[in-house]
Amino acid sequence: MTATTEPILEVSGLVKHYPLTRGVLFKRQVGAVRAVDGVDFTLGTGETLGIVGESGCGKSTVAKLLCNLERPTAGSIRFKGEDITRLSGRALKAVRRNIQMVFQDPYTSLNPRMTVGDIVGEPYDIHPEAAPKGDRRRRVRELLDVVGLDPDYVNRYPHQFSGGQRQRIGIARGLALRPEIIVADEPVSALDVSVQAQVINLLARLQSEFGLSYVFIAHDLSIVRHISDRVAVMYLGRIVETGRDTEIYDHPTHPYTQALLSAVPVPDPAAREHRERIILTGDVPSPTDIPSGCRFRTRCWKAQERCAREVPALAVPAAFHDTSGPAAHASACHFAEERQVVPPEEPQLHGNGPG
Ligand code: ADP
Ligand code: MG
Repeated sequence: MTATTEPILEVSGLVKHYPLTRGVLFKRQVGAVRAVDGVDFTLGTGETLGIVGESGCGKSTVAKLLCNLERPTAGSIRFKGEDITRLSGRALKAVRRNIQMVFQDPYTSLNPRMTVGDIVGEPYDIHPEAAPKGDRRRRVRELLDVVGLDPDYVNRYPHQFSGGQRQRIGIARGLALRPEIIVADEPVSALDVSVQAQVINLLARLQSEFGLSYVFIAHDLSIVRHISDRVAVMYLGRIVETGRDTEIYDHPTHPYTQALLSAVPVPDPAAREHRERIILTGDVPSPTDIPSGCRFRTRCWKAQERCAREVPALAVPAAFHDTSGPAAHASACHFAEERQVVPPEEPQLHGNGPG
């Protein structure tokens, strides 16, 4: 989990709009679902970037774009300097090997009619050049071993496994092509709380063993906390705050991050008593009808007239902890300011949030 400076991935101006159509016989485009609407970030080699946000904010779409399962409407994704969104044919296939996805739901993402051996070895069917035919079985057994499963399970079927074991199978498949980047899309969301930590620990161990870089997606800040070096908070298709994990958790500056953090369970009863609760009002607007200016303003207690007019850039607020660079703490808010959501030792002096 120690990051070096050389980015393995540089994402710039990433946009994915899905056409919104009406009619069956004569499909007419009546608008667009702005699923991803201008996302920038970098991923350092060996680093974990946590991407967090509520359901529908565009996390899975970002994941699919990174893995080249979808083509962006605009923007670039540079893998080791090369824009992979412009590749096709063999070059695209070669890059795809390097960026693999671990899916959210191990109950639906594993074909129930395939044996575990066939599931884990399936990437070799798509990329036969990755492993000589005679070597596949041995590799599949080794992959099962690497993720903590008995290699003798190769002939079993997914239904014979628990949720945590199924996610291990999904991870083994993700590793089959020896990728450099794993994009894990809510890999523990479908699992019991009791096994979530085991799967996260497994991912952390694999990262240090194989020098992997991770994009780790979750809808809850508490899940990415233990594994992320940096965190990006998404809202309605954009990153609203990004920074090193300690900056995001201890010094959140965007009202949305502060609200998300205030919803995270606090195990310590003393801290729970003192902390500020921020209850957001209203629903998340539709990605087909994004508010002007700051897209968070319709739910923000700080919103002023300027927020409806000006789109806040994801920028480093003056006088904050970081200054620049890819790890800088940046916030897309005209009125970004630090606000202690979970207080430290001494009781809090400033007032409680609304609601
Ligand atoms: P998340 O993973 O954060 O829950 P998604 O990336 O799955 O969010 O979806 C973001 C938005 O884009 C949602 O409003 C979703 O309904 C919409 N969306 C996702 N995929 C498609 C698609 N293929 N066609 C139309 N809209 C889509
Ligand atoms: Mg999703």
